Amino acid sequence: MKIGILALQGAFAEHAKVLDQLGIESVEIRNLEDFQQHQSNLAGLILPGGESTTMGKLLRDQNMLIPIREAILSCLPVFGTCAGLILLANEIASQEESHLGTMDIVVERNAYGRQLGSFYTEAECKGVGQIPMTFIRGPIISSVGESVEILATVDNQIVAAQEKNMLVTSFHPELTDDVRLHQYFINMCDKKIVE
Ligand code: GLN
Repeated sequence: MKIGILALQGAFAEHAKVLDQLGIESVEIRNLEDFQQHQSNLAGLILPGGESTTMGKLLRDQNMLIPIREAILSCLPVFGTCAGLILLANEIASQEESHLGTMDIVVERNAYGRQLGSFYTEAECKGVGQIPMTFIRGPIISSVGESVEILATVDNQIVAAQEKNMLVTSFHPELTDDVRLHQYFINMCDKKIVE
């Protein structure tokens, strides 16, 4: 199994390390050519944390937005962490434009832990267990559509969710030693949810 990691900007190397620990091969997707070259062999795609506005601009400049959106709509399993979550949201509060816009969620950028900015906690994640969560100016999911399953909340705010082939977290599982959420995603990739 090979997993692509969008490597335009942000915390992509950390995801590769986790996949390596799980014995999963990964490939950095840096441009359209990389995506086209590997697309047919990818079991899944990770969209890392970083700066969603910058990543959205790079995706557009490199003509990657539409091919990646189409692949996700054709059921490519995708895991968006933090800025990656924002890229997937079909609505971003106080912004006119979304990016990939494939997931039926509304997000608020930089909203989770406004006072704290960055913090660490532990909470239950459905199907995974009690996991460590590192937040770095993370978004909150302020509302979800009917087909979205809420996987975790912290202080009554949604911090992890899944809709069909799309998994998102407001926090950074790749920055802790706990690999269970990545394992959960690998299981999604194994199953190839076709819905
Ligand atoms: N604040 C960033 C954004 O809005 C996300 C932060 C992160 O990915 N750690 O894009």
